[in-house]
Amino acid sequence: MSSEKSKTFILKSGKCSWGNCIYCGYGKIEGFTPTTENVNRDLDGFFKIVDDTTETVKIFGSGSFLDEKQFPIDSQKHLVDLCKKHDIKKLLFESRPEFITDETLKNFKDQDYTVAIGLEVADNKTLKDIKKGFTVEQFEKATDTIHNNNGKVRTYLLVNPPYVKDIQDSLDKSVKFALKHSDSIVLINLYPHSSAEMINLYLDLKWKPLDRKQFTEITAKWKTNKKVEPDFETFTFTPRIPEKLKCELKGANEKNLTHPYYEIWQDYFQRFYTPPKVKDTILFLPCAFRKPYSQSKTHREILKRIQNLHFYARLHQVMISNPGVIPREFESKYPFAHYDWPEWQETADLKKQYTEVTQKRIEDYLKAHRYKKYMCYFKHESESYIALKNACKKLGIDLIQLFDKTLYEDKMPETNVLVERRALDAMVHRLKKEMKK
Ligand code: SF4
Repeated sequence: MSSEKSKTFILKSGKCSWGNCIYCGYGKIEGFTPTTENVNRDLDGFFKIVDDTTETVKIFGSGSFLDEKQFPIDSQKHLVDLCKKHDIKKLLFESRPEFITDETLKNFKDQDYTVAIGLEVADNKTLKDIKKGFTVEQFEKATDTIHNNNGKVRTYLLVNPPYVKDIQDSLDKSVKFALKHSDSIVLINLYPHSSAEMINLYLDLKWKPLDRKQFTEITAKWKTNKKVEPDFETFTFTPRIPEKLKCELKGANEKNLTHPYYEIWQDYFQRFYTPPKVKDTILFLPCAFRKPYSQSKTHREILKRIQNLHFYARLHQVMISNPGVIPREFESKYPFAHYDWPEWQETADLKKQYTEVTQKRIEDYLKAHRYKKYMCYFKHESESYIALKNACKKLGIDLIQLFDKTLYEDKMPETNVLVERRALDAMVHRLKKEMKK
């Protein structure tokens, strides 16, 4: 984000020449060849928003600014000219070490500039594992070259790289090393690009991003060090399953109950997600065969009854199904709108397993998120309701069931009882009463 004094520009710069780092997808960018003409045009466009208050310009792209295949030399010179013209005091750009030489830096000699380098981790074995394509020694040489050419070094370190047994120990060593060679350091909570090789480690549940608490604890010791900055940007992520790995999740079976795609989303809902602030009452609802759920008959009928209630905005609708708990805001996302769980395929064993897995997911969600009131609208015999009831009981939560089964003590209707007029009337009546309390 740019402050008034600092402007950040993201330049379209095509494929990274290295393009092999396992967490990065910039080596797969196709269909754009940077030329002096198009890069200069973009730079001119950016500088239109530079004004008298702008002191620093930061240029980011998809690779190395000093790589002339990504940023032609004439464009590099054009940037320096623009900085001079607009009286820019500080310039920052990124580069891999192999492009950092006396020759490539000479255009910047009259400018206060910083080169940001993604060292990631100060250990050659891990650098090899993550396919970084350079060594600690090559990084060190590049930082000497920058300093000898009056530039500054900003080093990026990954707080949670894969293949590292003890991330605290690894980070301690990396920061210690980087501080010797850098003017500033950024500690990054890694989250891989969806097109990157490493996404498979995440989808196979062999690696996880750190949540805010973990990240804060691990980086706590540098909190007061002015040279070290934590980067929280990645906390805004949501799990993204790469297009090519999306598949149909159909059938009632164990695989479709504990599929890794569901697990990473449940982990997201528990550790990263924050329910909308205004929604202080949770309303658990069943899933539906038709997706997204709100297009199904059951949900349309329920929504028709509750949408006009004056407290509607306070209700956080959360569905329970074989993927786990699914807040309404996510119902159209993959995989929640792309699975089927045909109930007629369920065996007694599978029902038991469904109830246990679902209970645990609900417990984890409710431990992470507190509401003022907890309500639900389910058939009493449904496994989702049994799992929810058990989870609430275990956590000491008062669960209000809005489905009034006494209405049907004589005979349950043949059709979906949840959309029966009497059941819906009773649901709304009870809901209004509970929300008044
Ligand atoms: S992390 Fe940097 S060096 Fe590695 S592939 Fe991505 S852009 Fe290239």
